[in-house]
Amino acid sequence: MIVSVASGKGGTGKTTVAASLVSVWSRPVAAVDLDVEEPNLHLFLKPDLAGPEPVYMEIPVVDWGKCTLCGACSDFCQFKAIALLGASLHVFPDMCHGCGGCLALCPEQALTPGQRQLGEVEAGMAGTADFLMGRLRVGEAMSPPLMRAVKQRLGRLLATSGGDAVIDSPPGVSCPAVTAVMDSDFILLVTEPTPFGFHDFRLAVEAFSPLGAPLGAVINRAGEGDLTVQAYCRERGIPILAEILFSRAIAEGYARGRVVADLSPELRALFESLRDSIQAAVREAAHA
Ligand code: SF4
Ligand code: SF4
Repeated sequence: MIVSVASGKGGTGKTTVAASLVSVWSRPVAAVDLDVEEPNLHLFLKPDLAGPEPVYMEIPVVDWGKCTLCGACSDFCQFKAIALLGASLHVFPDMCHGCGGCLALCPEQALTPGQRQLGEVEAGMAGTADFLMGRLRVGEAMSPPLMRAVKQRLGRLLATSGGDAVIDSPPGVSCPAVTAVMDSDFILLVTEPTPFGFHDFRLAVEAFSPLGAPLGAVINRAGEGDLTVQAYCRERGIPILAEILFSRAIAEGYARGRVVADLSPELRALFESLRDSIQAAVREAAHA
């Protein structure tokens, strides 16, 4: 079972919820940070990590002895990452999306695969939980290929462990967020009861509903705003699985890098109930 914890915008408490879910999970679990532009799940789960492993993407390298400057690669590339300018061919590695099309179509086999580092994958253990995270190279714009590399590694891990995964997804509804939640068995949306929170929550529901996984909501800092999110969830049939009341103790615990579920028996019970609701929803969806 793969559970993605997502949110329409940053700062809603998504990582807080993901870390707490991992800490109360009742089966072998892997904690995965796919918020590769700004990973911070490790700050709460404090895993022992092996050294970082670089992840690369394939980019074309020109063999000038073979290239006839026919321009076929330049015409093909939608991203203008390889371009015939006047009488010379230029490769712009940072613009390449690694599709491999130019390498496949070059009639002279004048393009060979080179590498551009996307970032790193780090793996380790956080207590009894496996831990995986991606970290995008500073200046790198393309996070989805790195995220896919982390997910491939997760697939191998789960095939061995037979366990579940809790993914801390990037915020928002753009390509990286969709890449993170795709193939999940459950998408848990964390929001807050404010006009901004509701606006972005609704975008997230619209973006992720077509993926077909059951959705559930957690309202963080409940009691501070209005009831618009609750009314919308009722209207869309999205179960609200937990409401975390705003409290100074939680804010202080978060600031100190504590797992919120560890702050009190009541909070632990809240996250155990959330866990049970998610597991029941996944079982129900599997039998539907
Ligand atoms: S398709 Fe091959 S031969 Fe033609 S310009 Fe590109 S690299 Fe050179
Ligand atoms: S691999 Fe794809 S994106 Fe990169 S230069 Fe070639 S055609 Fe363009």
